[in-house]
Parts: sequence; C-alpha cells; structure tokens
Amino acid sequence: MTAPDDGETRSLAPKPGILDIAPYIGGEHSVPGVNRVFRLASNENTAGPSPKARAAYIATAGEIHRYPDGSSERLRTAIGKAHGLDPARIVCGAGSDELIQLLTKAYAGVGDEVLYSQYGFLLYPIAAKSVGATPVAAPEAGLRTDVDAVLARVTERTRIVFIANPNNPTGSYLPQDEMRRLHAGLPRDVLLVLDAAYAEYVEEADYDCGVELVDAADNVVMSRTFSKIYALAGLRLGWLYGSPGIVDVIHRIRGPFNVGLAAQEAGVAAIADEAFVTASRAAATRWRGWLTDALRALGLTVHPSVANFVLVRFPAEPGRDAAAALAFLKTRGILVRGVGGYGLPDCVRVTVGGEEECRVVAAALGDFVAHRG
Ligand SMILES: *Cc1c(COP(=O)(O)O)cnc(C)c1O
Repeated sequence: MTAPDDGETRSLAPKPGILDIAPYIGGEHSVPGVNRVFRLASNENTAGPSPKARAAYIATAGEIHRYPDGSSERLRTAIGKAHGLDPARIVCGAGSDELIQLLTKAYAGVGDEVLYSQYGFLLYPIAAKSVGATPVAAPEAGLRTDVDAVLARVTERTRIVFIANPNNPTGSYLPQDEMRRLHAGLPRDVLLVLDAAYAEYVEEADYDCGVELVDAADNVVMSRTFSKIYALAGLRLGWLYGSPGIVDVIHRIRGPFNVGLAAQEAGVAAIADEAFVTASRAAATRWRGWLTDALRALGLTVHPSVANFVLVRFPAEPGRDAAAALAFLKTRGILVRGVGGYGLPDCVRVTVGGEEECRVVAAALGDFVAHRG
C-alpha cells in the first residue's frame, strides 16, 4: 500500500526523451513595422495554389459540420491515378509531418536508433526523441548524403533510416543508383523512409522519387506533401506510398479522421491540375537559376539545388556573416531562414519565389555585400 502523502512528493513528467527535444521553430512570417513582407523562409510556393484547388476548398464550406471520409478514398484514388499507383497502398495524413511521426512511432522506441544524414530535415531527430529512440546522424561530404557513411552507422539497434531526397536545407539529391545502393546495404528489418517533399521540382534524369524501391521491397516507404509545389501548406496534407504491411500498420495507429474535409477536396482538385504543377516547376527552375547566378555574381557561395530553395553561404567575418545578412534582410521586410539549428550557422536558406521576390532578394543582398543601406 502506498502511503497517503506519497503523492505530494511526486511531479508530473513526460516520457524519457521528450524534454530533450528542442521544439521545431517554423520560418518567421511577420516583421514589426514593415507592411510588405516577403516570406521566403518556409519553401512555400509563393504564387499560391491552383485556382481549381482554391475553388474546391471553398466549395466545402457548406459541409464542414460533417466528419470527413476517414479513409480519404477519393483523394487516394486521385493520387493513384495521377502517379500510376495502387490507391490501397497510399495513406493520407495531416501533412507529411504526421506520417513521419506515425512511422517513427510504429517502428522505433526506447533503446532503438533512428539514422539520418547530418544536414537532414530537423523533424527526423525530433520524431526519434519523441518515441524515446536515439537519433544518429551520419556525416555528410559536400552537403550531400553520403551513402557509405549512412551504412557505416547501421547497428543492430537501427530501426529507421530517413533520407530526404532532395534534402532540405541543402537542396542536394541522391541519384537513383545511389539510393539503390543504400537500400541494398540495409538489413531487411530496417525501414527506409524516402521523404520526397520536393520531388515535383526535380528535373534530373537520374532521379527517382522512391516508387521504384517501394515496389521492389517491403521495407521502403515514400512520403509526399501538398505543402510545397501544390501550395497547400496551410491545409496540412501529405501522403505515403508503401508496402501493404506498412500501410496496414499506419492505418492502425493514425487518427480515424486525420485529414480534414477541405484538405481532401482541395487535394483532389490540386493533383488533377497537371498544368499548374508543370508551370510551377518551370518557374522554380528558371528563377532558381537566375537567383543562383545573381548571388554568385555578388561573390556569395550558392550550393547547387534541385528544389525551390537555395542554400547561401556567407563569409565568417563579423558584420558580413549569415547572422548579419538575416538581420539586414529583415529590415527590408525579407524573411529567409537561418539554418544554425541544422549545424550550418554560416548559411541561410532562401525560398525561390517568383520574379519579383527573386529580384528583391538579389537587390537587397547586393546592398548588403556592398555595405549600402
Ligand atoms: C516541407 C517538408 C516536408 C513537408 O512537411 P508537411 O508536413 O507535409 O508540410 C517534409 N519533408 C521535408 C524535408 C520538408 O522540407
């Protein structure tokens, strides 16, 4: 029997690992005293979504007293049709964030290791810690996932390997043969998660978003999002494609109505609007090239990117460094992303917006580099 006063000395605490998590901080979106703000800190498609997706979203207004379809069937069918995939092997989620969290919860726990690449997406170590697992980072060479370094860190405790391809914040990607080599080197009881949030932007012929590996093996899953090229970040919508076994597991632990009605309807319309995706990709490629050239002409180092953002490196000199650039851009109402949290304190990540935004950023950094204003 517990003594009645025992409760006095106890205090509420979360599970081990939770308090080790540094909360994810999203990109800033306002600057006090500045009316016109250029939001280039979160890799959104600044042009906004397909008008068809917006119309579909608005059309749901009369139905929001109803629960959504818990199986997101129409949406899974539309995604399957657009990508040539079996809808039964697709699971939708409230952003790919949710799916990453669910995969981690399902396949890793206390005492396990979750492996990711050194400059990989910050959500992976957060998800690992949230289930009490240990995040393990494999070092990168040249800001690119190093397959040999990842494989060298696999132990018998490794349960999940997360690879963002292309990766955020570096913008680099792994070609299909490197990804195959990574998978071939993993034990069959390790889950390989290919996070292809930026897949729609990639034009390189040697890139595969992950479908090939998912189809070939039952320990691979691909995650996708409507937050980037589809410009629906505010609705929270993502999906995964995996083996029947993985799909079954995620259905068991997801919330029964994890994707809202408006998100499902907007997603159906968005994925059918292929012309919108094609135009968005072409614009991103064009203005990424323009911005890269413009910033290099200023003497800045711009890491090659295949996505809708670029990683820019500044000199280590006080007043000329990345922190000074962030502060300077903010005075002009331009919000870009500091990536010190990724271990890249000398870099900033700039979302590639449209023409006006790219010109505004390049002009402002021109002034910064020239010590003007
Ligand atoms: C933006 C991003 C996502 C998408 O997250 P959502 O939850 O779908 O908005 C996933 N992975 C990476 C690497 C990203 O940069």
